[in-house]
Amino acid sequence: RNQARVQAVSQIVNRKTTDVTMPEPLSKIWASDVFNLAKMEEALSKNAFKAIKTTVQTGEPLAPATADVVAAAMKDWALGKGVKFFSHIFYPMTNATAEKHDGFIITNSDGNAITEFTGSLLIKGEPDGSSFPNGSLRMTNAARGYTAWDPSSPAYIMHTDNGATLMIPSVFMSWTGEALDKKIPLLRSNSAMNKAGQRVLSLMGETEIAALNSSCGAEQEYFLIDSNFANSRPDLLLAGRTLFGAAPAKGQQFDDHYFGAIPERVQIFMQDFEDQLYRLGIPAKTHHNEVAPGQFEIAPYFEAANVASDHQQLLMTVLKLTAKRHGFMCLLHEKPFAGVNGSGKHVNWSVGNATQGNLLDPGSTPHENINFLLFCGAVIRGVHLYGPLLRAVIASASNDHRLGANEAPPAILSVYLGDQLERVFNDIKEGKLLKSEVGGLMDLGLSQILKFERDPGDRNRTSPFAFTGNRFEFRAVGSSASVSGPLVAMNTMLADSLNWIADKLEAELATGTSKPVAAVKVLKELMDGHSNVIFGGDGYSAEWHRMAVEDRGLKNLPTSADALPALREESVVKLFSGTGVLTPVELESRFEVYSEQYLLSIEVEAKLVVDMATTSIYPAAIEYLSQLAGTASSMAALNITLDSGVAAAVAKEANAMMTSVAALSAALDVHDFDSTEAHMQYSASTLCSLMLEVRAHADALEALVADDLWPLPKYAEMLFIK
Ligand code: ADP
Ligand code: MG
Repeated sequence: RNQARVQAVSQIVNRKTTDVTMPEPLSKIWASDVFNLAKMEEALSKNAFKAIKTTVQTGEPLAPATADVVAAAMKDWALGKGVKFFSHIFYPMTNATAEKHDGFIITNSDGNAITEFTGSLLIKGEPDGSSFPNGSLRMTNAARGYTAWDPSSPAYIMHTDNGATLMIPSVFMSWTGEALDKKIPLLRSNSAMNKAGQRVLSLMGETEIAALNSSCGAEQEYFLIDSNFANSRPDLLLAGRTLFGAAPAKGQQFDDHYFGAIPERVQIFMQDFEDQLYRLGIPAKTHHNEVAPGQFEIAPYFEAANVASDHQQLLMTVLKLTAKRHGFMCLLHEKPFAGVNGSGKHVNWSVGNATQGNLLDPGSTPHENINFLLFCGAVIRGVHLYGPLLRAVIASASNDHRLGANEAPPAILSVYLGDQLERVFNDIKEGKLLKSEVGGLMDLGLSQILKFERDPGDRNRTSPFAFTGNRFEFRAVGSSASVSGPLVAMNTMLADSLNWIADKLEAELATGTSKPVAAVKVLKELMDGHSNVIFGGDGYSAEWHRMAVEDRGLKNLPTSADALPALREESVVKLFSGTGVLTPVELESRFEVYSEQYLLSIEVEAKLVVDMATTSIYPAAIEYLSQLAGTASSMAALNITLDSGVAAAVAKEANAMMTSVAALSAALDVHDFDSTEAHMQYSASTLCSLMLEVRAHADALEALVADDLWPLPKYAEMLFIK
């Protein structure tokens, strides 16, 4: 047997079980590593606390004197917990997080060590921005980027093998103030949505309107693979997915893993993982097995979008670190195993405030119903107008493997409303609600109609964008992606639609129309233009793929190469600049960075395919051939003939594989492209199909070559041995 594989299996079989510690009571560990408002209240004077609380809740800037006081309190709290370093953590345009660690310590003129942390250090850090992807915002003479504390996201202590560090969630911008990160656009999109939402609510007669904010609850799917296996798969280590691997005899055809008993080892891991999340103030709520073997899901309770987004990044970091400690490798790739369900991230999203509550909740009075219908209508219009943008913000080389396969939402963006709500919107479109009007006053009676079934069984799992009772669930987001991009797109399209609605409402109301009638009229116009995006049927069906494009005029954008150019469309440029979320230059830089990432990840994979096929799969096939040939000639000496069928098949596949490898190598040498778009199309078609060609031969060899010679851990081993 191949040494690495044998060792991996024996190490797993003989591994000592991790000690189970009694879980600590939640009350004792909850947010114990977070410098939240409660801790600030303890540490600060009444006035200082009042000032910081206002900043946290409204985003108002902090006076320098208060910043000094907060910084000092934060430092004392952290030092008291054994922390020696602090770091501004920020969210560059990659899906990763970045940080630069600084010591609290400085020496004074007597040579004594003292600790210092001032308000200005807290508020502004200066990492060298030159190595972060900035797209066209990168100016050689001005590579510096600045980080600045985002007080609306609490600081926390991160424990790693290198010790404990105070982490300060920050924005990251260029010296000219351009957004170089994923947090600034999210904050801006929230405020654009707030402004537009306030307009609509006040036109509808609301007098007291608190600031609107978006909320996000993200369900995270992931795979756990024993690290002994992962470590002998260069593709898992470098690309996060298997570039080779034949389907196992026992796949997921029995679906017996879903909600199945969670293996003990995984259970111990989960308890550890969740305890850490609790210490960090992340409200982990549900966990369960997913459809595929080795696949699991964690879903924290929803929070304000900005905090949820930071927490989501942190959750992915803690997930990977904890898995490693438990002898697993956590795969966040969207499609680590061909033929096995992929992993996504369902982004549950709603908007609301303290006075009107959740505006995507139908509520129980006609008045609440109307507000709900306006906000819901705004979402429908947004998805219809900016579907390609929503596809672009979830685009990545890895997510392309998942979207459109018959297990994940299609690459066509449509909205699922559920039977009852769809009927209401259709009635609006057909003018039925306007006909029932009596004397200008209308009792819509919608609260009766809008009593939604909240049974998850009722939901359409094939829709990429589904209404689920009091929120929308964007299901096409990739498992490794930041949720920020999707949240920015959703908030911004909503802001745009709410402004459109407000303009229309203003005009209607000016003619003396009553508020509910004006609202229904505007919604009717909205439905006349945008009802094409509503679809309650089977999103996986071939019929929908045809109908969506031919009859409804929706776009099917199967690859990132097709989707990313949406970021350059005139309407999208206008959307972002009109709402103040991204300037044209900032948007263009995102196109450049995401395209670059796409090209790079395919290039890395293609090179790996060439390398692994040549240096480990081909030699295994040749070794087997030489064994067969040796045996055949020894047997010939005994006058026995060994059938040459297997050897011929191995030789045929090995030769064919190397022909494909040569073609892929040659294709990798092409560098001359007229545009980024053309380069992406080339990668999506030529490189990806040649990679698949190599794989097909390699996987055929896996089924032929003697098991003990095969160099790579097989699917069945990785997915089923724990
Ligand atoms: P399911 O798997 O049935 O979709 P889960 O309970 O696993 O449901 O996940 C639902 C997610 O949606 C959770 O993170 C939950 O907190 C979140 N959520 C619930 N209500 C809202 C809301 N109003 N706005 C945003 N997210 C929400
Ligand atoms: Mg869900």
